[in-house]
Amino acid sequence: MDLGIKGKRALVCASSKGLGLGCAEALAAAGVDLVMNARGTDALEASAESIRAAHGVQVQTIACDVTSAEGQAQVIEAAQGVDILVTNAGGPPPGLWSDWDRDDFIKALDSNMLTPIAFMKALLPSMMDKGWGRVVNITSQSVRAPIPALGLSNAARTGLTGYVAGTARQVAPKGVTINNLLPGIHATDRANSLDGGVAAQKGISIDEARTQREATIPARRYGTRQEFGAACAFLCSQHAGFIVGQNILLDGGATNLTI
Ligand code: NAP
Repeated sequence: MDLGIKGKRALVCASSKGLGLGCAEALAAAGVDLVMNARGTDALEASAESIRAAHGVQVQTIACDVTSAEGQAQVIEAAQGVDILVTNAGGPPPGLWSDWDRDDFIKALDSNMLTPIAFMKALLPSMMDKGWGRVVNITSQSVRAPIPALGLSNAARTGLTGYVAGTARQVAPKGVTINNLLPGIHATDRANSLDGGVAAQKGISIDEARTQREATIPARRYGTRQEFGAACAFLCSQHAGFIVGQNILLDGGATNLTI
């Protein structure tokens, strides 16, 4: 399917690996020029070069922490006038409800709620001026059904979801859509590190932890970054202009819900 976005320009935050990289690759495959970001330069430059070679699009890289004020200023300057924004950052660490104090919550809110909001606030106006834009926020299945060990993530991402629900309706009249993609378990470094935590806690191997977790997913496997990226690119396409303010689960059926 021709997504109809060849020649557009996208910012994909936190995109040297994992789900962000999947989104960057799928947008590039549709002919979209990119601004890519991550903290570490090695993986960022390698991923950018591989995308340039595979798809012939222009890729600018900005290495910085996207959750810091300085990092946001750098990325926003480079991304002025983008047509597409994909927000993403690392997720908060797991723990127990009684572990977390105010500073932990502020950090999680900064990373997974206030950072995407800052990017939308900075980049929505030019999309609205042009009469066309797409925003996809990478959130989590924890927005639909809480993951008890990820209380910081449950809290911060639900806050972002509430913000998007209202804002999406305010910008839609200008041809700009905002939607959230909610990943369930995908085979990325993040999933490996969570499996490592479970393995250490239960005294089992990482492979055993993964097999046990796969058994809880109706699709009986983890998702891939390519599947995730394809869904993101569709939401950013010309065909998705009537999809507004939605929260789309990509979880192999793991979240047991009727609607
Ligand atoms: P990942 O494989 O660990 O990749 C994270 C990417 O983001 C890397 O490129 C990393 O590069 C970059 N990054 C992290 N923190 C950053 C920061 N502060 N500033 C700039 N770049 C940053 O993670 P993932 O699995 O793709 O997860 C992406 C998001 O989806 C996370 O918020 C995660 O909690 C959420 N999620 C993932 C899953 C899953 O199963 N994978 C499920 C639900 C939710 P650097 O380290 O070099 O910065």
